[in-house]
Amino acid sequence: MENSDENVKFGICPECKVRENDSSEKKIYQCPYCKGWFCEKHIEPKLVITWNVIERTKDPILKEKLYEEWRKEGGHPCSVWTMQYFENLEMKEKEEREKFLKVLDKIKKLEEINLYAKSSEVSKKKISSKDVAVVLVVLLCFFLIILLNYPTAVHYIMVYLFIVFVLFLILVILK
Ligand SMILES: [Zn+2]
Ligand SMILES: [Zn+2]
Repeated sequence: MENSDENVKFGICPECKVRENDSSEKKIYQCPYCKGWFCEKHIEPKLVITWNVIERTKDPILKEKLYEEWRKEGGHPCSVWTMQYFENLEMKEKEEREKFLKVLDKIKKLEEINLYAKSSEVSKKKISSKDVAVVLVVLLCFFLIILLNYPTAVHYIMVYLFIVFVLFLILVILK
């Protein structure tokens, strides 16, 4: 607190008068924020907030900060300083939020790259020859069942051919 001659004089401190019923004249200083005059004990600006407001604050970090301010002894409730306090807080939060978002953005981009890499790995796995062979075997079995339900000479030959083909595929898979 700057204490040049301009912001020091003798007078009654309104905080002392209201809180301690002390109307004696003493050295008082001008608050650079609200321009009010207060004694040495009450010159420090304090937040104009109630206990209820602090209790309702959801952000735990802000809540702790507000408790700290609220617990400070002496000082005077200064609306101008309170406004500035919250403006600064908002600016800080904005900066922190922007920083946080930037970091988040980077993480997201990294995750996207990772996801892309993973998905391409998965698709590579999907097109493995083993999978194709399995699908073919299932299809062949399906045709086999249909053919067996219509037993003519031609179909019997085809059934044998299919069985040979299936065995060949099983050999390919087992390799
Ligand atoms: Zn005072
Ligand atoms: Zn003030």
